[in-house]
Amino acid sequence: MQLDAKIPAGPIADKWDNHRFEMPLVAPPHRRKFEVIVVGTGLAGAGAAATLGELGYRVKVFTYHDSPRRAHSISAQGGINAAKNYRSDGDSVYRLFYDTIKGGDYRSREGNVYRLAQLSNEIIDQATAQGVPFAREYGGLLSNRSFGGVQVERTFYARGQTGQQLLLGAYQALARQMKAGTVEAHTRSEMLDVVVADGKAIGVVVRDLVTGEVTTHSAHAVVLATGGYSNVYFLSTNAKACNVTAIWRAHRKGAVFANPCFTQIHPTCIPQSDEFQSKLTLMSESLRNDGRIWVPKEIGDQRMAGEIPPDQRDYFLERRYPAFGNLVPRDVASRAAKKEVDGGRGVGSLRNGVFLDCADAIARLGRSAIEERYGNLFEMYERITGEDPYVRPMRIYPAPHYTMGGLWVDYDLMTTVPGLYAIGEANFSDHGANRLGASALMQGLADGYFILPATIAGYLAGMLGRPAPSPDNPAFAEAKRDVEARTRHMLEAEGNRTVDWFHRELGKIVWEHCGMARSGDGLRKALSEIPALREEFYADVKVLGGADTLNQSLEKAGRVADFFELAELMCRDALDREESCGGHFRLEHQTPEGEALRNDDDYAYVSAWGWEGPGAEPTLTKEPLAFESVALKTRSYK
Ligand SMILES: Cc1cc2nc3c(=O)[nH]c(=O)nc-3n(C[C@H](O)[C@H](O)[C@H](O)COP(=O)(O)OP(=O)(O)OC[C@H]3O[C@@H](n4cnc5c(N)ncnc54)[C@H](O)[C@@H]3O)c2cc1C
Repeated sequence: MQLDAKIPAGPIADKWDNHRFEMPLVAPPHRRKFEVIVVGTGLAGAGAAATLGELGYRVKVFTYHDSPRRAHSISAQGGINAAKNYRSDGDSVYRLFYDTIKGGDYRSREGNVYRLAQLSNEIIDQATAQGVPFAREYGGLLSNRSFGGVQVERTFYARGQTGQQLLLGAYQALARQMKAGTVEAHTRSEMLDVVVADGKAIGVVVRDLVTGEVTTHSAHAVVLATGGYSNVYFLSTNAKACNVTAIWRAHRKGAVFANPCFTQIHPTCIPQSDEFQSKLTLMSESLRNDGRIWVPKEIGDQRMAGEIPPDQRDYFLERRYPAFGNLVPRDVASRAAKKEVDGGRGVGSLRNGVFLDCADAIARLGRSAIEERYGNLFEMYERITGEDPYVRPMRIYPAPHYTMGGLWVDYDLMTTVPGLYAIGEANFSDHGANRLGASALMQGLADGYFILPATIAGYLAGMLGRPAPSPDNPAFAEAKRDVEARTRHMLEAEGNRTVDWFHRELGKIVWEHCGMARSGDGLRKALSEIPALREEFYADVKVLGGADTLNQSLEKAGRVADFFELAELMCRDALDREESCGGHFRLEHQTPEGEALRNDDDYAYVSAWGWEGPGAEPTLTKEPLAFESVALKTRSYK
């Protein structure tokens, strides 16, 4: 298969404008003739559904939550980037573009990333117009702070609740359309398959999570805005329900999966406290604006932080990366923390963390200034650990957080299945091998509010005057039968172990061999362990309850089954990529100083994997990446 990203020709700054001009449009009176399904109501999905509704399309939106407002986007803490240059500190659209390409370790598409930087400013205007309460300066201008991997302040924020406030804005817009009748919302509904006929996406199969009823829905186009798959590691900062099922089912129906091994391990999370923990909590990266990261210089130093004098502390990020200090990108900060903990300098009773210390900032700015910036994060930390971070430094350690991989999409955000789109974290997106902080919200909203609503018209316009996809197409009945059979299969297993047990065991394998450090031997080991555990899962899992009621154990079983297949693909992808780049750190490929060593001659491509059936080797297609506006360089934050 040839992958054509369909990047428009012309100078990088004009591509998006030219494309929008050249693309066919759907005139307002025709829009109500088209039905579009949007799965997911996070920032990407709610933004897209609201905008499509406002444009006049008929939209059906699905979410497994009891309200669209509960989407995982609500947990985003730190902020959203935009190239407004309010600080006059040298920022520009080009600099945001450049920082994102460099931050992603030169494994993303220039055309997409430039468009993202251009749209960043429109997102802030739109959200502000909706009433999103971004933090403001005394004079009224929106305030900014810094995130990792950049030397300007371009991150807009609403205390530590930026995602929540943005989602309320998007939800308001969505609710308006629901009231207007352009958007029909289906909550507590889990999409379990995409329906494809004659090679095109024509609908979805959905299970009502309360009654268990399985229904089918047809549409002219389907948009997946179903978030990321960090929960493949079992422990992650994602909401417990986040999963890969929607995009995995689409993958099985022909949508190729891009860069599955590009996962982000975030440096500032509360360390795990015991074996049975089911969730990890993020402490926003924004804390690195005012927090200094350190460990005791002496191995095994057991003293309380306050008893260790400054000259006996190692501020290892400031020492190793003087230019960016505590604000190096996430992949770099995470690896550096791992090195210290592996070297025996970890702190806390389990010696599994490093300090994030705001004492200097509190002394310099006063407690109330810190409280104003990060009050809810400090409170959250204290509730979880029982330690007061105003008095004792926080303990942090890297944890799975975000997935740069996802469904492959072209410039229009269409997958390799015509009529099937993927937006937000669900696509492989614009972040290459490492996402910079505060750029996921930017991408989700750019996709949802601005890109998809424009590009989908190009596809729909071609269907004008043709009959709508028929709900009587046999593909619907067949997909429904498959979903029901899978559900039955899960319930019929008469095993002894819980779904969670298998998920935790799978997570341990993926974390060990496809986490922060990867090696050929480890990945080959994982590729033999995962299928064995999967077989055991099908033979020995016990799913209590039935199919016709609310059954969370059943829901989880289906999701974990898909995680098994995804985990294998992640390891295969990591094994194929014989280089280190961003969060993909192959131990065999590092500089003498322990930094990632890219191989641009052989690996400057997006890897796109095709499903060939259960147990069969997936096929690899490569989308070569061209760098015309930014020169390929070794990343340096020193
Ligand atoms: C703790 C935390 C803090 C973060 N902070 C920031 C930050 O400060 N700045 C930043 O830029 N990024 C941040 N991120 C990342 C960012 O929040 C996410 O990448 C982004 O919100 C994802 O948005 P989304 O719309 O793509 O998906 P989500 O918000 O995950 O929404 C997915 C939607 O899909 C639905 N769904 C999924 N599968 C199905 C299915 N099969 N059937 C029906 N519905 C389905 C869900 O119900 C949900 O509505 C943070 C992430 C975490 C975990």
